[in-house]
Order: sequence, then C-alpha cells, then structure tokens
Amino acid sequence: MPETTTITCINCPVGCPLQLLHEGDELIEVEGFDCKRGKKYGRQEFVDPRRTFSTTIWIEGARWARVPVKLTAPVPKDRIMEAARAVHTLRVRAPVQMGDVLLRDLIGEEGVDVVITRSMDRLQAEP
Ligand code: SF4
Repeated sequence: MPETTTITCINCPVGCPLQLLHEGDELIEVEGFDCKRGKKYGRQEFVDPRRTFSTTIWIEGARWARVPVKLTAPVPKDRIMEAARAVHTLRVRAPVQMGDVLLRDLIGEEGVDVVITRSMDRLQAEP
C-alpha cells in the first residue's frame, strides 16, 4: 500500500502542495504540481534533496569589506551547514570580477563551485 508524503514546492511563490506517493524508498508518482518544474522538484526532493545559497565573504583592499558569492549548483540538503562553513573560510583580495571561481567542487561535490557575483576594484591609496 503506497504512502503519501506532502511537501511544498519552493520553486515559485505559488507554493503548490505536492503529494509524493511512494512505497518505502521507491517513488511511484508526484501529484499536485501546477507545472513541470514542480514535478521535477518533487522527484528530486524525494530522491536527493538539495539546496543552494548565496552569501558574502571577506575581501581585502576593496571599498567594501565583504563581497557577494553564490554556488553554481546545489549541495545535498544534509550538508548545507558544512558547505556554508567552508564558504565562510574563504578570503579574497581585490580586484575581483563577477564570475571569478574561488573554489571548485565545494565539500567534494563535483560541479559545485563558489563564484563571485559582484566585481570590485582595488581601492586606490590616497595621494
Ligand atoms: S509546481 Fe510550478 S506553479 Fe506550483 S509552486 Fe512549483 S513551480 Fe510554482
């Protein structure tokens, strides 16, 4: 007899309630989605739930003290804190360009890179 687990799709503000029909670890069907992104999300969430995040890290020699960064792909949900701690150990020196890759394969996850999302020039010394 299949069980039903209900989750909320987080791909857009509508927040469709998704019903995941499964027998133990085997997913049978996803229901309740209003678009195909919801179906894909429900399947992914059941099989291998992942999350991503954006944050800021310290930068030296720039006008501001911190520069924004993001991940290029999500990491396993149960490793999100480990990933955040690893990102927050990073330090950079200006100048940096948007898209610069600071670290590849974060926490050993292939294809999950940490990239700069805002260019920052080096602060010129006062004459
Ligand atoms: S299923 Fe589609 S419409 Fe519904 S919350 Fe997810 S992305 Fe939005």
